[in-house]
Order: sequence, then structure tokens, then C-alpha cells
Amino acid sequence: MKYDRILIRYGEISTKGRNRKNFIDKLRKSVKRVLHDFPEIKVEGQRDRMFVLLNDQPHEEIIERLKGVFGIQSFSPVLKVEKDLDTMKEKALQLIQKVYQEGDTFKITAKRADKSFALDTFGINQAFGAHILTSMPSISVDVKKPSINLVIEVRKEASYISCENIKGAVGLPAGSSGKGMLMLSGGIDSPVAGYLSMKRGIEVEAVHFYSPPFTSERSKQKVIDLAEKLSRINGGVALHIVPFTEIQQLIQKQIPDNYTMTTTRRLMLRITDALREKYQGLSIITGESLGQVASQTMESMYAINEVVSTPILRPLIMMDKADIIDIAQTIDTHDISIRPFEDCCTVFVPSSPKTKPKLEKVQHFESYTDFEPYIQKAVENTEKLVIMPNSNIEKEMEDLF
Ligand code: ATP
Ligand code: MG
Repeated sequence: MKYDRILIRYGEISTKGRNRKNFIDKLRKSVKRVLHDFPEIKVEGQRDRMFVLLNDQPHEEIIERLKGVFGIQSFSPVLKVEKDLDTMKEKALQLIQKVYQEGDTFKITAKRADKSFALDTFGINQAFGAHILTSMPSISVDVKKPSINLVIEVRKEASYISCENIKGAVGLPAGSSGKGMLMLSGGIDSPVAGYLSMKRGIEVEAVHFYSPPFTSERSKQKVIDLAEKLSRINGGVALHIVPFTEIQQLIQKQIPDNYTMTTTRRLMLRITDALREKYQGLSIITGESLGQVASQTMESMYAINEVVSTPILRPLIMMDKADIIDIAQTIDTHDISIRPFEDCCTVFVPSSPKTKPKLEKVQHFESYTDFEPYIQKAVENTEKLVIMPNSNIEKEMEDLF
């Protein structure tokens, strides 16, 4: 008795009417991507269920990989059985016998998508329960906390029987929400913001500002390592590295000390927006959390946000640091983030940045300098890397989403 396929139940997809086809398509791609090194496996996406046909591949490893795929509510390794009651009962019994251990209890969960099936859910529970109880005198029923939950799904084409129901990663499938540019520093917060965005189906491209020689190769490597962790989530991530030294030096020269931080952020945002346009993104994502530091007061956001009309997504805005750290630990970026390094912002940070900058003032200070040519130059000289899981090797990312 061996499972022959995995049945995948969709999460929020099923509520998304017209977009459903697109979502199923994206989910199918995600599933294929995590199983790319199992060429024997086939993936079939149907309207309300997806099936991974195992073709004799071990289901344990595949289950592990599916646990990380966004857009899956739950999934089960199943046995496909023709809709003949006796055959179904026999297979269900064999399945339970295989996993049964002394003292186990069970219940039956019936799902009937095919309304023309001879038995309704109550009838299925009765018939299968009776069959199992008479064949296995030592087992008993426990509807509240059974050790074995036998799930029987009766669908149009066949029935599917399983003893396992595994929680999926929920969220939305990779790439189903369009592309966003993630401003990725070397800190704890921005990788977490990237992860949460990916969970909502956003295809993330990372943008990092660095200022050699004030920031070292080591700090660049740190960001590459963070991007590599993010690349594991969906199988690859683009990382744009923006040379920022010249602009930072210009800011030091042109802007009064207590406003350099505000202008720096405004210019980072303008450059990120230019890259977004170049690569057809629809939003910008940051790791900002309200009140955390000088640049993250509402006054600061008000003065900084003004330079773009693109939506800025701030997944962490209302989160506490401790909760952010928890997520950083689960996605394995925390230990990279806490490596000591120089950030382009910390190197140039003034001793007392304005925590409540005024928009009119920063506009006024900036009005003496034409930053536009510098922005264009930075965009032109931006280096694009494509980071793949388990390597920092550049590869073409075509067709990933
Ligand atoms: P993080 O932990 O993500 O570094 P933080 O709490 O240190 O955040 P800031 O340094 O003020 O806060 O940065 C706020 C946000 O601005 C970051 O989350 C990131 O999205 C963006 N950012 C800051 N520095 C850079 C950088 N060098 N390159 C790209 N984005 C940056
Ligand atoms: Mg930081």
C-alpha cells in the first residue's frame, strides 16, 4: 500500500474568482520549481485541487519541499481509488492498517464533491467506520482527538484516500501579485519585509545601496548572502547593487548636516523608483517599522515619501522588534544580519539627524542642487546579479515566475 500522488488544497485562491486560472498557473509553476530535480513527477492543476503524481518517487522528501510553497492551504499524500464502495473500503482499511500503532484511535472525515455518489458524508462515515471497526477489533473511534484521521474525498473522476493532512505555507503563489522592488539593507528588518512580501505573492527584486570604499566588500557579501536566503523561498532572486558613494558625498557637501539623512533617503527612493520603472515593478518595499529610528517617524516618512507616487509597502510598519526577530530567525537571515558591518547610511549618518524633518525645508535645501543626472548615472551603473539558491552564481532567471 503506497501513496501514488499528493493532493493539494488551495488557500485563498479558491475565493479569487476571475484570477483563479492565473493563480493556479503560478502555483503549479512554484510546485514544479521546488520539485525540479524530480523529472519523473507530474503536476496537474485542476480547478479546485492540484495533484502531484509521484511515479514511485518517495513522498517524504516531496512533502518537505511542498511545506514551503506559498498558496497551499493543506496537502495530503493520497491513494487514488475508483469509486466502487467495496474497493474504497478495502483500500481505506489497508491504509489504516499500515500506519496503525497499538492504542491508536481514528475518525473519518468525508468530503463529497461528487453529489451523485451513492452515500452522503454521513453515510460514508458510517460505512467506512463500521468496516474498520469490525476488521480491527483493537482500534476505537475518537472524533475529537483521533491519532488517525482518515480523509475520504469523493470527486467526480475518482475517490482519494489519505491518513495525513499537512498544513501548507498559506499565502499567495509566487509572482501572482506582480513585482515589487525590495530595499534591502544589511539589517534585520528588510529581509523579513522581503519574506512577508513574497508570502503575499509578490515577485521581489532586491535593491541595495553601497558606498565603496566607505563600505567594504564584506558588507556587500552580507547582502548577497541575505539575498541568497531569500532566493531559497522561490528559487531565485534578482539583486541590484547601486553605487551610491558619489551621491552621498554630494549630499554631505550640499545639505545641512541635520537634513542629510532625510535627503539620503529621498534619493535612495528616487533611484529605487527609477529601477522599478526600468524593470516593470509596481511597488517599493521597505523594512521600516514605525518609530524604530530617526528616519522612521511619521514626520520622516511624510518628508521622504513625497518624492514618489509609487505605492510603498511596509510590511513591518506596525510590528515590534521582537516579533520581527522571531521571523528573521525562522527564515534564517538573522545570523547574517547581525554580522558587524558598515552600512552606507551609518557611515554618513550625522550625529543628530532630525527626527521631525520638515518637508518644505528639505525641498528648499535640495533646490540648490540638480540631483537628476546623478540619479541617472547611478541607475546606469547599477550592477544586476541573479542569486540562485545555494550559490552566488549568476544565472538567467527567465521563466521563474
Ligand atoms: P534594516 O534592519 O532593514 O536595516 P533599520 O531598522 O536598520 O532597517 P534603517 O536603516 O532606517 O532601518 O532603514 C530603513 C529601511 O530603508 C530598510 O529596512 C531598508 O528597506 C531601507 N534601506 C536602508 N539602508 C539601505 C541600503 N543601504 N540599501 C537599500 N535599502 C536600504
Ligand atoms: Mg539598517
